[in-house]
Amino acid sequence: PATLSDLDAWLRRYAATIHDQVAYLTELDAAVGDADHGTNMDRGMQKVVGVLDSESFEAADALFKKVGMTLVSAVGGASGPLYGTFFLRVGTGIGTVSEVDAETLGAGLRAGVEGVLARGKAELGDKTMYDAWAPALEAYDGAEGDIGDRLTAAADAAAQARDDTAGLVARKGRASYLGERSAGHVDPGAASTVMLLEAARDTLS
Ligand code: ADP
Ligand code: MG
Ligand code: MG
Repeated sequence: PATLSDLDAWLRRYAATIHDQVAYLTELDAAVGDADHGTNMDRGMQKVVGVLDSESFEAADALFKKVGMTLVSAVGGASGPLYGTFFLRVGTGIGTVSEVDAETLGAGLRAGVEGVLARGKAELGDKTMYDAWAPALEAYDGAEGDIGDRLTAAADAAAQARDDTAGLVARKGRASYLGERSAGHVDPGAASTVMLLEAARDTLS
């Protein structure tokens, strides 16, 4: 099972990846939005790293709720409330535990994605981060084995789905203002979602 220190490593790895990939996420959002997804996520995750450096957490729910609140307050736009709600709900879904097994992590991720849906009202095929999350959850639940095996399946499914968002016309968020012209470009939030799952795969087992 994953320990609190593994969860801390997951969040730090995600922050480092986002920081490395700011230019890539900016480029994706420049094509369909307002070119701020990289800087939005980097600002938020650097604040999260500051929280991890200065506070200690007794349980997974307290950790993820603090991460969610930090993102809601540090990040504007669509992604702040959406990622913020995601982590708040992951905390609720995982509960007051100091070790997380595959079932519990799956419940946490599913609760997080339900939070994204409640907040953003996206449907499958709207060209949002949900298009990466939906197949990821399905792959996670369908995979055999430990957390690492399940997250590998989830990250692979999300990466394929991220690439497939290029074929979609956006129906939610800023990209929807482009109408048909949003097709041909990968959704930025789907790309950052894959990074979150890959960071989990690489740090949790
Ligand atoms: P903004 O669009 O406000 O500038 P960001 O650029 O940080 O915010 O984030 C854009 C991403 O947010 C999109 O690529 C998409 O994945 C996601 N998104 C936007 N609206 C929604 C929604 N209603 N539901 C789910 N995800 C959404
Ligand atoms: Mg944007
Ligand atoms: Mg914006």
